[in-house]
Amino acid sequence: MPELLDHVSRISPSWATTLPLTECGRRIDDTGSTITFDEMAEKFKRQGKQRAGMSSCMTCINRVSYGQEEGDDIVSRVSAYLTRTHRVWGEIAHELEAIDALVAAHRDEYDDLVASVRTVTRIA
Ligand SMILES: [Zn+2]
Repeated sequence: MPELLDHVSRISPSWATTLPLTECGRRIDDTGSTITFDEMAEKFKRQGKQRAGMSSCMTCINRVSYGQEEGDDIVSRVSAYLTRTHRVWGEIAHELEAIDALVAAHRDEYDDLVASVRTVTRIA
């Protein structure tokens, strides 16, 4: 019988090729239900911790209750992806090697993109 608890999915960078994990470190295909950080925050706010905890993974709901989402900041998201995904470390190394090879093969295009992002960031 599948587990009926809600877990919170972690945000992965766009280049991630591994199956996303939950906040408690499980593969999303190893859970009965996976919801976003914001959905769990809404559930927590609406039901309260005790009631929401009856249908949610306590590790995941604790992450939400402490407000530890990585947020929109890409450095925080990548840092969390690299430091909280220990069991697929070899796969992450393969992803980084592929990114490195892509940049090397398209150096001019990459430099132009970085310059345009810098320009947008300065304007914002
Ligand atoms: Zn969980």
